[in-house]
Amino acid sequence: MIPVRQMLVPPQKWHIKCPYNMIAETITVHNTYNDASANNEARYAVSNDKSVSYHYVVDDKEVIQIVDESRNAWAAGDGNGPGNRKSIHVEICYSLSGGVKYVAAEALAVKFIAQLLRERGWGIDKLRKHQDWNGKYCPHRILGEGRWEAFKQAVARELVSDTPYYVIVPNTAFWQARALVKRYEEKGFKCYGVAGKSYRQNEEPQENDPYQFYIETNLENAKWIRNELEAIGYDKAYGEVISK
Ligand SMILES: [Zn+2]
Repeated sequence: MIPVRQMLVPPQKWHIKCPYNMIAETITVHNTYNDASANNEARYAVSNDKSVSYHYVVDDKEVIQIVDESRNAWAAGDGNGPGNRKSIHVEICYSLSGGVKYVAAEALAVKFIAQLLRERGWGIDKLRKHQDWNGKYCPHRILGEGRWEAFKQAVARELVSDTPYYVIVPNTAFWQARALVKRYEEKGFKCYGVAGKSYRQNEEPQENDPYQFYIETNLENAKWIRNELEAIGYDKAYGEVISK
């Protein structure tokens, strides 16, 4: 979970910066066309009296929020169109000169935008670039480097890597499933054994009764967990997306 630091526009300035209630339908990506940190960008945006705003600004170190997602931001240049009135705007810092700080800021933005999408159950079809709303050449660095599709794919990969996932060992005995539950619970995972046969009331499983072992994780962790299981003899372990 990427933390968000708030530096919110005060209510007495809402009429300038974020006058309308909003139910967001998309997320819009920007480059700041500047070399300032998120802290300096946010401080400037909150303190001036221009009808210019956004929701989040991301640099190589942190994410700062200046407008609540339930309010609009003036960032799309499309008047009262869906860019300004129905989109969550994310600015990526250090785009003017680029370099390592920009690369790190964009990498954090990819993770953060994936987090925003995930919270809403949205996919990358909800992503927009500023250019989509009014034709402005923004996010200029991503566009200039011909990377908009690659940027979206990076967000898509990030979404998948955090997809809830089961690792399942299908053929274990009760005693093995019990040992595996203990092993992975100690590592902080939620896991359980599922009986491979039905029991009568008050009947206790025997040590060698058939069981399946389940561990709840994500796609990223599933890789090393399966390798580890294979190394200790559970080569039948497989993965499965957890459907909600
Ligand atoms: Zn923009």
